[in-house]
Amino acid sequence: MVRLALNLLTDHDPLSVKGLSDALGLSVAGMSRALDGLVARGMVKRTEDPGDRRARCLALTAKGAKTMEGLGLDPASAERVAGAVEESFIHALSSGMWLATGVALLGAVIAAVTIKDGRGPARPRLPGGPWPGAARGRADRRLRLNRVRRQGAGTIPPPATTDPGGSLHPMAPVDVTSVADISVEPGTLPEKMTAWVIRQEREGEPIDAFQLEEIEVPEPGAFEVTVRVMAAGVNYNNVWAALGQPVSVFRYHPEEDHHIGGSDASGIVWKVGTGVTRWAPGDEVIIHCNQASYEDVEVHGLDPLAAPSQKIWGYETSWGSFAQFTKVQAQQLIPKPRNLTWEEAASYGLVYFTAYRMLIDQCDLQAGHKVLIWGAAGGLGVFAVQLCAAAGAQCVGVVSSKEKGNLVMQLGATGYIDRNEFKGMMRKGGESPEEEKERFKESRRFGKAVKEVLGDAPDIVFEHVGQATFPTSVFVLKPFGKVVICAGTTGFNLDFDVRYLWMRQKQIIGSHFANAYECMKANELIEQGRIRPVLWRTMGFDGVAEAHQLMRDNSHLGKIAILVGAEREGLGRTEDGPGAIAAEVGA
Ligand code: NDP
Repeated sequence: MVRLALNLLTDHDPLSVKGLSDALGLSVAGMSRALDGLVARGMVKRTEDPGDRRARCLALTAKGAKTMEGLGLDPASAERVAGAVEESFIHALSSGMWLATGVALLGAVIAAVTIKDGRGPARPRLPGGPWPGAARGRADRRLRLNRVRRQGAGTIPPPATTDPGGSLHPMAPVDVTSVADISVEPGTLPEKMTAWVIRQEREGEPIDAFQLEEIEVPEPGAFEVTVRVMAAGVNYNNVWAALGQPVSVFRYHPEEDHHIGGSDASGIVWKVGTGVTRWAPGDEVIIHCNQASYEDVEVHGLDPLAAPSQKIWGYETSWGSFAQFTKVQAQQLIPKPRNLTWEEAASYGLVYFTAYRMLIDQCDLQAGHKVLIWGAAGGLGVFAVQLCAAAGAQCVGVVSSKEKGNLVMQLGATGYIDRNEFKGMMRKGGESPEEEKERFKESRRFGKAVKEVLGDAPDIVFEHVGQATFPTSVFVLKPFGKVVICAGTTGFNLDFDVRYLWMRQKQIIGSHFANAYECMKANELIEQGRIRPVLWRTMGFDGVAEAHQLMRDNSHLGKIAILVGAEREGLGRTEDGPGAIAAEVGA
């Protein structure tokens, strides 16, 4: 069978869906529909490459291959593409030959579908080159990105509505130059605000799913507070929200047909609901993202994370921080550290508080512990590394480039390992016994590299990658050690040799965000400058969609902040302090 793997994410990857859509002169949405059409017709089937969460593979079926043959396409070309894909991850490819072959291959299949369905003539194929319209596709895409990049340009026009299955919510042009202007004083809310909104019918790539809308300002209910957002933080959860995967967020909040994402913010309390006594309009705050009903008994004795009503604000709820105002429960508010700017203060809560609970409470991190941290230069990772350093523990960070390695060393890691040197250890799923033997050998080699850095096997493995790395995590851990896990980015079905768990009495601990007390304790370390936000980039309010796309492409380091009410970077600090660490190098 011929396999054509398409990286759905990387802009620069010629075989990405975006690359192909540009080359074919189709919109990404159009391209996605075309791919759906091919899947529906049984010409290709979707698979996933668990070795890399960014890769989504399409396997050409026998029917698809036959169609290609009927069109006189060279199956050997497809085989070459497939071979290259299997040898190295698709985003490593740079050869123009593969671009030409890949485009020709997929374009031809689409052409076949088009002809078969009688939906008009197929585009003529250029031998070995991109389709006519490529330039237009690229230009359109650049235009759309520029549209969101150019905050200074003022009004952002609504997206083109040539899409027949397009938005059910036609939008008026939205002026983003005035998001920092509020016409009312604290205590009074305006009627409307500007917000980045995801709607169910446009779930897909973040760059398309997020769109600007004018929407009503939420009034605070009992024990609730409406906060004017000064800056917002970008997290991976709203990449999932944009994609509608693994489930649509509209399942979590069916009462609202809009999703305003954003689970981190710094801001000013603007209006308080009945029953709120600790906070008043004008207070400067940051917001932690855990919500639960005060009526659930778990909140009052076990942990709010155990409550049936528990939800993550700005992901499982709407009214998140990518808007001029956000609505939260009063218990979510924490005083803003005075030594941080608005953007620094907005950048860290979700990932830092999660890492804090994972290491400090779930694993009882101690001085002298040895810790293995996957994705150490990512959102969770940069805080896991700093927590280890602050606790006097040693840690090794796993990263995918030298630049990321340099960052984790700067944060206090004992050493780092480039995972590209151990590609073979990644669990793909469905390995044959022979393949599993080879994979295991690589895990063992990786375990040796970990010991070389730490001097011994790790007491704790900090996990969130999931399927691809979990068997290695369990294997390399010291007897009686703990794997603490809060996500399965590469896949949720974990498959590992359980003998290494029971014989060596290791533990697996699930962890999810943090409770208000943990958030407050963790925040004190920020106030003391012992843990510092790691800010890679601050973008204007126009950058929300682009920021999520960068994250989806894994083209970021540390955190991205978005200015909302803050007119420019550097505002909001009222006390001297170390501030954020700038992750200055590109990914
Ligand atoms: P980031 O994208 O910022 O960082 C994740 C890191 O994982 C990347 O920097 C990347 O680093 C690494 N990575 C990606 N793919 C692989 C792979 N195949 N093998 C090994 N490493 C890989 O995301 P976050 O740290 O913010 O979040 C990570 C996950 O945790 C997400 O799924 C998020 O939704 C979840 N999460 C869950 C929380 C909870 O409360 N349950 C809270 C916060 C996050 P590199 O390429 O350098 O190896």
